[in-house]
Parts: sequence; structure tokens; C-alpha cells
Amino acid sequence: MRLQLATWPQVETYLASSDAIILPIGSTEQHGPTGLIGTDSLCAEAIAIAVGESLGVMVAPTLAVGMAQHHMRFAGSMTLRPSTLLAVVRDCLLSLVRHGFRRVLVVNGHGGNSATLQAAFAETHMELDATSPRPGLRTRVLNWWELPKIDALSAELFGDAVGSHATPPEVALTWALYPELADPRPLEPRVAPRDGFHGADDFRARFPDGRIGSDPSLASPESGSRLLAATTDEIAAIAQAFFRAV
Ligand SMILES: [Zn+2]
Repeated sequence: MRLQLATWPQVETYLASSDAIILPIGSTEQHGPTGLIGTDSLCAEAIAIAVGESLGVMVAPTLAVGMAQHHMRFAGSMTLRPSTLLAVVRDCLLSLVRHGFRRVLVVNGHGGNSATLQAAFAETHMELDATSPRPGLRTRVLNWWELPKIDALSAELFGDAVGSHATPPEVALTWALYPELADPRPLEPRVAPRDGFHGADDFRARFPDGRIGSDPSLASPESGSRLLAATTDEIAAIAQAFFRAV
């Protein structure tokens, strides 16, 4: 059930029996020489839609541009500054609350969004708490790649070459969605270096092809399908408890 594909009377009917919605958020940023720029948004959206279908829960439009400042030395990357992203998330939450949505599960595809998401939740709760009557908004964010079963499955499929950016799990998931775009050619070095970084220039200098600690050539549409199914199951179980909790 996608908000974008519903009419307003259908949403009104839905709200008469449910206050739950899933909000996918990703990023538009380089994912190494073989990964798609939309990887984080495509993953979050596919997972959110699959979870929404399995639970009969509404899914909001994907916020496809996130906080990706550190990727801006690579062509095609787009970023919102944290203050902009905070305002976007806050305004989206307030819009949903106005209609009666009260439980918002955010499926996040990009680690760089995490701090700003928490700040946006805090700002929104602060604003709503000052109103009377209080709407009782509940928010939760799930970083799909960090879920315990997904972490374990990723290690089983890709060993120690998962890394932290342009990872085989996220790349595989996009190749499951778009098998015609799969590009599993070997990269040099096979496993990219791992390290910290300080801003966009330093990122490019330390990780010239954009990967961090990963070997996305291990990804395949088949492993991506397994990950999508497993992630959907794990998030659906968590979401069900979140949506039903008193
Ligand atoms: Zn990513």
C-alpha cells in the first residue's frame, strides 16, 4: 500500500483503522565504480515496499536525497546539509501527524543520515509536545544492514569483504532489483582500504574509487534476493511489534 498510489479517500479509510506508516529514506551518492548512485534509496524503498505489502501498512514516498557531504568529490553525488535534511524530515513527520498517522517506522539506507534523523525526531517531538492535545507520535528508525540476522547473513555470503561503503550486501540488493545493471567485475585492490576520513577531499584521497573496506564484485542478483527476503522478514517482525505496542 503506497501513499503515492492511493487516493485521499483511500487514505482516510486506512486511517480509520491504522495509524502506522513506513517512511523509507536513502541517499544519492557514489557507490564505488560498479555500484549505483541510487543504492541507498533503492534498497530502503524496496525493503519498505516489501514490508508494507507483507503487513498491509502504508508506505510513504522515499526521501531519496540524504546527508552525503563526504561523497561530494565523486560525480553524481547529491547532498542535503544536515539542517536541510532535519527540516525535511520534521516537515514530513508533521504532515503525516496532521492526518492522524502516529507510528512512523523509518527504514534507513544510509548511515550518514542517522544523526540527523535522531535530531529531526527530537525536534518534532519537542514541537508536538508543546501542543494540546499531544498527538503521541512514535518514531523508530531501522538501519537495514545493521539488523542482527542481516549482519550474520552478510558475513556468511561475503566473509570479511563486506566493509562499510559500496558493500556487497547493498550492491547485491540493487542488482536483484535491476539485474541488467549488475557489474561484478573484479576491482583493484580486491578489498578496498578501511579507515576513517575527514570531509569530502580526504575521503577521495583515502578511497580513490569510492569503496571503503568492501569487495562488491562478490555481489550477485541471487545474493541480493536472499538479502531482500531476509531483511523484509526481520523488519516486518520488528515493525509488527512497533505498530502494535501500547
Ligand atoms: Zn550505501
